[in-house]
Amino acid sequence: MSQSDACVFCKIASGRIPCLKVYEDDAALAFLDIGPLAEGHLLLVPKDHCERLEEMPGDLLGRLMQPVGRLARALMAVTGTGDYNLLCNTGRAAGQAVMHVHFHLIPRTPGDALGYRWPAGKYEPGRGEEIAERFVRALRTV
Ligand code: AMP
Ligand code: ZN
Repeated sequence: MSQSDACVFCKIASGRIPCLKVYEDDAALAFLDIGPLAEGHLLLVPKDHCERLEEMPGDLLGRLMQPVGRLARALMAVTGTGDYNLLCNTGRAAGQAVMHVHFHLIPRTPGDALGYRWPAGKYEPGRGEEIAERFVRALRTV
């Protein structure tokens, strides 16, 4: 198990600092977020230290995601809401404050404090094709 001494989620995963744990398996841990956006806001974290999502080996990511469906069903049962967001903030501009991969599972209700902004744009003619082609080329090397 690779861990970082300075990392709060590694400390939680190893039991060095407490959390309100709701789920644990060999690879992952889920617990209540200490600053909930809504009651029942969960964090799902890998036990291995990894700063960013794209750095996680695929098999570990698969194991991390394995309990998501059950956690979501439990969240709906506990909070009484049928709606939720699954978020992985990655990097400072995306709002990542704790540099250990984590997924937020956030119960949602209409008009809640988190709100929803989705300012959808539009591609100029040909631009979408150009971007898609760049992805296809990039995916050959990354
Ligand atoms: P992010 O901005 O995506 O990095 O989110 C980090 C989240 O971790 C925040 O929602 C914090 O409230 C939460 N958090 C930080 N420290 C703890 C802790 N000791 N126990 C539970 N949640 C924590
Ligand atoms: Zn860590």
